[in-house]
Amino acid sequence: MNGSEYVQLVLNQVERRNIGETEFLEAVKEVLTCLTPVFEKNPELIEAGLLERLTEPERVISFRVPWVDDSGKVQVNRGFRVQFNSALGPYKGGLRFHASVNQSIIKFLGFEQIFKNSLTGLPIGGGKGGSDFDPKGKSDNEVMRFCQAFISELQKYIGADLDIPAGDIGVGAREIGYMYGYYNKIKNVREQGVLTGKGLTYGGSLVRTQATGYGLVYFTEEMLKDTHKSFKGKTVVVSGSGNVSIYAMEKAAELGAKVIACSDSNGYIIDENGIQLNIVKELKEIKRARIKEYVERVPGSKYVEGFTGIWTVKCDIALPCATQGELDVTAANSLVSNGVIAVAEGANMPCSQDAVNVFIENDILFAPGKASNAGGVACSALEMSQNSMRYSWTFEEVDSKLQQIMEDIYKNAKEAAIEYGSDNNLVVGANIAGFLKVSTAMMAHGI
Ligand code: GLU
Repeated sequence: MNGSEYVQLVLNQVERRNIGETEFLEAVKEVLTCLTPVFEKNPELIEAGLLERLTEPERVISFRVPWVDDSGKVQVNRGFRVQFNSALGPYKGGLRFHASVNQSIIKFLGFEQIFKNSLTGLPIGGGKGGSDFDPKGKSDNEVMRFCQAFISELQKYIGADLDIPAGDIGVGAREIGYMYGYYNKIKNVREQGVLTGKGLTYGGSLVRTQATGYGLVYFTEEMLKDTHKSFKGKTVVVSGSGNVSIYAMEKAAELGAKVIACSDSNGYIIDENGIQLNIVKELKEIKRARIKEYVERVPGSKYVEGFTGIWTVKCDIALPCATQGELDVTAANSLVSNGVIAVAEGANMPCSQDAVNVFIENDILFAPGKASNAGGVACSALEMSQNSMRYSWTFEEVDSKLQQIMEDIYKNAKEAAIEYGSDNNLVVGANIAGFLKVSTAMMAHGI
């Protein structure tokens, strides 16, 4: 059996086993298709059933989360944790609280996390979790009660040397704080390394808040550098206005770019003079308000209802940082015809497969999320290191480690792309570079 026959055989098996799990199947297909040349070169991996093992999570945990809302009514949500692959270290990956969460989405994110975590070069395996609980519109007390109910079940399966969750969409410092407090209380421990993204007063790391956004810009700057370009003087559009987007905008502006648009799930704002980040931060981080309010504060700026239209705004660099599937083929064509030079994913798989193909076919520099947004989890791993040492590095120390990690990820993905014959295709390069480390570890561990 040759490499492509093997990949097809496993894909058919994964499709039969995971019927209806669209997001997961799409992610597996994307990765496996890129890996074909690796199996042509290393047939012993076929013998070892590497892909059959890699595509089946080590463990999928699904649980009930009952909690009481402010009116005294009992609410029941679904909780998940997928412990996908621990070949490189303890499972590591965020928790997502969003109404759309289901098993397929968590498995897709957990699968991606294996390769992303491998790319960081740090000893962490891949996992992901979450709930269909929607924090939007919930009171602070409701969020706390939900977090306590969620962690009281999840605590059975996690631990500083076993599985270390962190934030993702809908889970920030507030939620991590509630879960961390309750975990230690009910287990009667003070286990700092059990969660990352903690507050700075109880074991959190400097730069963790900024890490995904900063890392995205460090990675993109490396990619631009390769073609003798940089952020300096460029116009940038960033979707979303959460943690990833805010700090991507901050770093891009610091490197001399002008960020002219950002969005939330209702619509987007355009400010041709450059978005005033202090106002976005106040609206989103403090008031938890809608981005629409920006235009009341900044004369001359504009608000447009509906978030997908943001990709019709002409820009040099596009950074999709909101959520999966937010940038489709129409959006990609519009960016290309408006002269975009680089697209880098801050979210996990925000661009559809067809959209990615449009960028590659048109020679647009394209950075896949598993490489370009790995700064968040990399900094989480640095938080784990500091917790183990019972020590804290300075902002500059963590930031320079983050910068180095992002440069290395770019270099490794680029080199793998060249070695396996896909010169400028970082999608292929990132998948192969991420996979090689995991497969070497899996081979070493035996069956
Ligand atoms: N949720 C982030 C991601 O998608 C961070 C995960 C972590 O820090 O463990 O990579």
